[in-house]
Amino acid sequence: MSIIVQKFGGTSVADSQLILAAARKAIRAQRTGHEVVVVVSAMGQNTDLLIDLAKEIHDRPPAREMDMLMSTGEQVSAALMAMAVEALGYRAVSLTGAQIGIRTDSTHTKARIRSISTERMQALLDTGNIVIAAGFQGIDEERNITTLGRGGSDTTAVALAAVLHAAECEIYTDVDGVYTTDPRILPEARRVERISYDEMLELASLGAGVMHNRSIEFAKRYGVPIHVRSSLSDTPGTLICSEPEVADRAVCGAAVMRNEARIALVGVPDVPGTSLEIFSRLADRKITVDMIVQNVGEAGKSDISFTVPRDELPAALEAVREAADIVGVDEINTDENVSKVSVVGLGMARQAGVADKMFAALAAEGINIQMITTSEIKISTLVEQDAALPALRAVHRAFELEREPALTSAALGEQPTVAVGAGNGPDFSGLVERLKGTDMEELMLDDISLDQSQALVTIAGVPDRPGVAAAVFRSIGNEGIFVDMIVQSHKGAQGQASLSFTVPAAQLTHTLSVARRLADAYQCRTVMHSPSVAKLSVSGIGLRSHTSVAIRMFRALADAGINVDMISTSELRVNVVIDGRRGERGLAQLQKAFEGVLR
Ligand code: ASP
Ligand code: MG
Repeated sequence: MSIIVQKFGGTSVADSQLILAAARKAIRAQRTGHEVVVVVSAMGQNTDLLIDLAKEIHDRPPAREMDMLMSTGEQVSAALMAMAVEALGYRAVSLTGAQIGIRTDSTHTKARIRSISTERMQALLDTGNIVIAAGFQGIDEERNITTLGRGGSDTTAVALAAVLHAAECEIYTDVDGVYTTDPRILPEARRVERISYDEMLELASLGAGVMHNRSIEFAKRYGVPIHVRSSLSDTPGTLICSEPEVADRAVCGAAVMRNEARIALVGVPDVPGTSLEIFSRLADRKITVDMIVQNVGEAGKSDISFTVPRDELPAALEAVREAADIVGVDEINTDENVSKVSVVGLGMARQAGVADKMFAALAAEGINIQMITTSEIKISTLVEQDAALPALRAVHRAFELEREPALTSAALGEQPTVAVGAGNGPDFSGLVERLKGTDMEELMLDDISLDQSQALVTIAGVPDRPGVAAAVFRSIGNEGIFVDMIVQSHKGAQGQASLSFTVPAAQLTHTLSVARRLADAYQCRTVMHSPSVAKLSVSGIGLRSHTSVAIRMFRALADAGINVDMISTSELRVNVVIDGRRGERGLAQLQKAFEGVLR
């Protein structure tokens, strides 16, 4: 008999009536012939209430005790849900994460799942019970209760679906699917019929609130189709699977993270190993760093800036000051008044003109872009917080995200590649077997590669006002030049930013003439270039949350005395650009550093 996992979020179990309604859904699934595992979140805002309570008592409550406290929210829902099923005349048993045997590491409040035992759940299912699992929690080796990070019940649900070889994982929530952007922020957002794991991973980590991003990592790794749907209506929802909604659409969604903070280290000695000093300290504290931009060094010094979630700023500053004491920097400054606006799409990897369209949309609204970073399938910009919503709206409109894609599979009368609810999910049992014995969330890499075909151009001393990036990339795009990586630093000490990007080496001369013309027109200080750079890429799953990947890369390169010129990180890849002459050496270093982690 096929297993189905249903997860009910906080708003879907906020009161007794809703719990009963959810129980009916579980019973309905059982009556249609499935074995059913239900995963529940804490009722309503209960987790927040528990956190507030803790803060009334202690301003930095011990993480272990926070886990003891927060895990009770899900325990309440699980017990009530089991009672609801019983009340409706069916059999159910509730289990905490510990009772199931969800083993995690000991990183309290952000624990990762190591293994899950299926015996107890399977025995209960075999005897006709609906199993109700408390989401978001596990137990470490010392039997301490751990939690998986805010929103972690999604991850519990997908992980259970993976180990139980479930046919599908249904996520019931207060929205009826995944939207092109958060519909509570932009009413014109459109529900997508289908979205690929990769796009969802990026969107989730860039601020789309729908799903916990580690749950998508699980889903991708184990091939679990996720069906996001409303607990209040019977609308079709969104399928998260390996295929995108439309193959060649450049952008499938936009996201905003309003509460970001930027940290800049000004005047950092431009020698190998400095990035390592800084970012390893941030990684030790499990702080998720994004938008890392290093200005191309002048006079032996460079500036390094990056963003962190605003509430992690104090901890990040502590880490950065430690590093600064060792490497020596002229100044550390921060800006807490910034937001990150991003677009994501599998199609942009193969299309030119996506970045300049985004920048032009922002310029048209008079919005100044403070920083830019790109990776294969996303572009992120940093803007002042007041501009975040206008920026999101402008970008959403520019890519016509509110419009139905011209030829959806539904319009063509095709079935989605992964059939939902058919009771015969993809066969990933082999994969689950093969991964036994390794930690479920352990790092796994797909590939390490070297690209020596590109050149690097930097326009330094770019005036800090709207429209410059848009003009630069429009002109370059008009010349048919394909730009790969783009980074723009925030304004430095003289109130000027610098804009760096890579282009095919064969197009360097052409690019330089365009860049010089623009630099003149926009009163930029100078244009610099490296005729040959090497781009080293490490790809896998969940690389941004596995901060150790970037750190290992920095360490491996620093050990060989190789300086890193540019960095871009995403969920799927970490790219670094180094001197073209050191490419082979850099590749060899990375292969050695990641030995045993490649699939
Ligand atoms: N209750 C937890 C939270 O609010 C976990 C979850 O809802 O997924 O973050
Ligand atoms: Mg949630």
